[in-house]
Amino acid sequence: MSDSNVVVIAEQLQGQLQGITFELIGAARALASKLGVGVSVYLLGDTISGHCQKIITMGADIVYVVDDPQLSEYTTLTYRRAVLAVLEVICDPPPIILMGATTIGRDLAPRIASYLETGMTADTTELDIGDYEHTSKTDPAKAGLFKNILYAIRPTFGESLKARILGPWKHPQMATTRVGVMQALPEDTSRTGIVIPVPVIFQESDFRTKVIRTVRDMSTTVNLVDAKVIISAGAGLATAEGFRLVEDLASIFKDAVVGASRKAVDKGWISSAHQVGQTGKTVRPDLYIALGISGAIQHRVGMQNARTIIAVNKDPDAPIFKYAHYGIVADLYQVVPLLKKEFRRMTTDYLH
Ligand SMILES: Cc1cc2nc3c(=O)[nH]c(=O)nc-3n(C[C@H](O)[C@H](O)[C@H](O)COP(=O)(O)OP(=O)(O)OC[C@H]3O[C@@H](n4cnc5c(N)ncnc54)[C@H](O)[C@@H]3O)c2cc1C
Repeated sequence: MSDSNVVVIAEQLQGQLQGITFELIGAARALASKLGVGVSVYLLGDTISGHCQKIITMGADIVYVVDDPQLSEYTTLTYRRAVLAVLEVICDPPPIILMGATTIGRDLAPRIASYLETGMTADTTELDIGDYEHTSKTDPAKAGLFKNILYAIRPTFGESLKARILGPWKHPQMATTRVGVMQALPEDTSRTGIVIPVPVIFQESDFRTKVIRTVRDMSTTVNLVDAKVIISAGAGLATAEGFRLVEDLASIFKDAVVGASRKAVDKGWISSAHQVGQTGKTVRPDLYIALGISGAIQHRVGMQNARTIIAVNKDPDAPIFKYAHYGIVADLYQVVPLLKKEFRRMTTDYLH
């Protein structure tokens, strides 16, 4: 079988499809249309075939499903074997394979890349297709014009620059993509696609690692990534107790989540599950309120795609005002009660 589609490796946790899968399909669709190909998704797990139709309605053309009881818990080698099983079925390597820059994606993607002896760009925030002309005096065999290759773009140097990373000599071209950065397509229930079940034959060496017990960290239930409203605070709060005020403001919104800058986390005022930014979560809410946050580049990269940003800071020169849609130069302790009163009065989709 030949399949030259852009590939997304779906991610599920305990049988639940993760949002990153749909974000990746959205990104893959854009790449695929530039290449004139389709989108294939590899779905791996135990009793997960019921998700195939949803994956198609979210933009996939073909779903290869490896549904096996041995995949009930994620382990690197069993999941790697499942991916290889699909690659064997389709014979030719796909042009591009995408995975989430999640705990699983960061573990699995390099294993697959090293097995396929190809490159992999981690943690991308933009993906594109373009040409590249390589001139090399030292290695003329590598020179040439490479058409329609993957531009894997990611921040570098403390997020102050963007690097465009290309791997024209090896296939497939692989990348992991940050959660919350790419946009999922709207669901289209009229879409049709093909589902191909793929059997997998494990080898003894795939079971070198065994999951004995899974203990879930309940603090990670803070769902910043899917939140429509995030009220974040930083060092300007001055004390841990300040977060009570933030929680109080959040409580008047339906499903609002409290976020934080790294400084607030480092001071021990709130757990790292709430951190937004380069080393925290990348978020895309409809409304992001930043209280006492200066707006350092490492914070900005995590929240700059919010639809509306409101910043409260007593320093008129704080960098956050350069990218906030609305700025209030004032002491947050005076402003938050007023904001709360005003938001209560408003009746928008966000409010109870
Ligand atoms: C490799 C690396 C990764 C990083 N990752 C992240 C990350 O993921 N997320 C992140 O946030 N940071 C990250 N940082 C840290 C980042 O550089 C900043 O240090 C951090 O974002 C600053 O947090 P802050 O805005 O809360 O604090 P500050 O920069 O100290 O700003 C506090 C702000 O509060 C204002 N303020 C003070 N009192 C009040 C008041 N009463 N009312 C209103 N405003 C007031 C001040 O004017 C100031 O602008 C990272 C840094 C590095 C080097």
